[in-house]
Amino acid sequence: VYSEGAGIARAVPAAVAVPKDAEDVRTLVKWAASRKQALVPRGSGSGMAGGAVGDGVLVDLSRLTGSGKLDARAQRVRCPAGATRDAVDALAATQGLWLPVDPSSGKFCTVGGMVATNAAGAHSLRYGAMRSWVNALDCVFDDGSRAEVRRGSPPPAGVPALERFARDAERAVQDAARGPAAVHGGVRKESSGYAMADYARTGSLVDLLVGSEGTLAIVVGVELSLMPRPGATASLLAAFRSLDVAVEAAGVARDAGASACELLDRTFVEFVRDAGGQSVAGIPRESEAVLLVEAEGATVEEAKAAARELRDRLTEVAKRGRDAALIQLAPSPQAEKALWDLRHAASPILGRLDPHLKSMQFIEDAAVPPDKLAEYVRGVREALSTRGIRGVIFGHAGDAHVHVNPLIDVRRAEWRQLVDGLLKEVTALVVQLGGTLAGEHGDGRLRTPLLAQAWPGGATRGAFERIKKSFDPAGIFNPGVKVPLPGQRALGGVKYDPTLPALPAPARRALDRVEADRVYDSFRLELLSLS
Ligand SMILES: Cc1cc2nc3c(=O)[nH]c(=O)nc-3n(C[C@H](O)[C@H](O)[C@H](O)COP(=O)(O)OP(=O)(O)OC[C@H]3O[C@@H](n4cnc5c(N)ncnc54)[C@H](O)[C@@H]3O)c2cc1C
Repeated sequence: VYSEGAGIARAVPAAVAVPKDAEDVRTLVKWAASRKQALVPRGSGSGMAGGAVGDGVLVDLSRLTGSGKLDARAQRVRCPAGATRDAVDALAATQGLWLPVDPSSGKFCTVGGMVATNAAGAHSLRYGAMRSWVNALDCVFDDGSRAEVRRGSPPPAGVPALERFARDAERAVQDAARGPAAVHGGVRKESSGYAMADYARTGSLVDLLVGSEGTLAIVVGVELSLMPRPGATASLLAAFRSLDVAVEAAGVARDAGASACELLDRTFVEFVRDAGGQSVAGIPRESEAVLLVEAEGATVEEAKAAARELRDRLTEVAKRGRDAALIQLAPSPQAEKALWDLRHAASPILGRLDPHLKSMQFIEDAAVPPDKLAEYVRGVREALSTRGIRGVIFGHAGDAHVHVNPLIDVRRAEWRQLVDGLLKEVTALVVQLGGTLAGEHGDGRLRTPLLAQAWPGGATRGAFERIKKSFDPAGIFNPGVKVPLPGQRALGGVKYDPTLPALPAPARRALDRVEADRVYDSFRLELLSLS
């Protein structure tokens, strides 16, 4: 039951450990250190990049729950790493507060997993990704020592990993961070590599640990900043005949303060339409791209006024681009909800596909500089169509960050070559456009072998290696993530591969249930005993 997660990866772990508190984690890490045993940290296993699927000892941190502690006055919450995002937000809501990082997986992903991947959501357009909301991290380091790393405070004393970092890596990181290859300039979201530039800017180890995907330490507790919940929102739908005009409109919406601006590509709308989905019935057939745009306000009237202002600006863009766009405000809260439900209209259809057609997420997370978004979407459409592969493209238009679900028929003898070729072509396209391969899902085992292309600067990758080596010289934390292992392949075990040995039937049933019902937060051993 731990051999698969939400992405495409399959690897059977050597064993599974289910710590029930931070002390258990320390004991486990000390044991692993003494035997040089690889540990694969896992929250809910909803990550897409295969960072929580591996052949070491899998560490299920989802039982580190318990009540969080809310400090309403300071607008902060402390919670165990295994708490789900929505549980933390529900606690915040009791005092009118909000965690504005709201991934679509918020119901089931853990805050530990969100920290590890620098997760984001629709509202990251305005409020940023996880990194900016993390105040302190309670960590277990490679020798089993436990310490809190806090923003604005010096690193905790007496932690060998942190002493080694200061002695062996700090300088190299500062130097590399000054080089142009240390960032993908112009990209608005980043979950790839170690965040050296953020670290160099703030000097806070929190910034380096966020996004480190379980490769530097195991996070057992998190302190997050919160903000007041928005008073009201109002939304609009804008359908464009031209992808370029839609992309320009997304930039205008972002600069005008939209709180969310999401993209449904033509491929998405057509896929839902062809499957008989009524929710897209009102969208003109000739639309190349649809934007869903949200405005916030302290009151309903303020939010509506802000949405009207956005509508007028988008209408101007459409006029300038001679685009006969359809731009509609949602007239009621129900209509607004229906509009945002559109974003998820493809998911149930994807779940009902011919069982041989697999929605494989392996080019699902690229973010490019915003002025390159149209070129990127066109390039992905082309790469899919030349291979005769249907794909569903959607994402975060305002952040120029795009998810792609190619539908692969695993009965085709050459499916693996097709997947390999597609990954290669799209990777090259992202690199050529100056983008990142991972905007919010992280590198995982899927993308780590591609880091030489994604981060071509030798000094940058050299600094990544130094960071890893200083924190974890024995390589016990999630080996094969962030720093590739010799001979590691991007597409190793793919769970849809029909030639893989079948999992035992109770495990298969449990995993199918997790995927179909999206109960990634359920305790796998309990599911196994039920199935
Ligand atoms: C339907 C669906 C929608 C999604 N939507 C979004 C979205 O909108 N935005 C987004 O950003 N992501 C999204 N995701 C991806 C996923 O939910 C996020 O990456 C999430 O942050 C992973 O949390 P998790 O608890 O499932 O972590 P896991 O998948 O278990 O782990 C992810 C990574 O974090 C590491 N890790 C986990 N916990 C810890 C810990 N305590 N200490 C150290 N390392 C740890 C793991 O080793 C792994 O490398 C979506 C996934 C699904 C299935």
